[in-house]
Amino acid sequence: MKIEYDRDTCIGMFQCVAEWDGFEADETAGKAVLLDGTETDEDLFVRDIPADAELDAKFSARVCPVDAITVYDDDGKQLIP
Ligand code: SF4
Repeated sequence: MKIEYDRDTCIGMFQCVAEWDGFEADETAGKAVLLDGTETDEDLFVRDIPADAELDAKFSARVCPVDAITVYDDDGKQLIP
């Protein structure tokens, strides 16, 4: 399972940070930080989700009010949102 984070879309409400410790708050920038994320495009970060964190990571995507977080299964199918 993979997670993709669009930093440009993020409005820094930090609900994702409360749901999964793969996200941290950058209070100065007003943006979340996807820990261990690789920037694949400008302001677009991707990483694998550890098997034991899949539930929390999915919740982080569900609570984002602006859909800045997308979760994909191992076949690349979009699961959330
Ligand atoms: S929940 Fe969404 S808008 Fe809020 S900090 Fe996380 S990515 Fe940004």
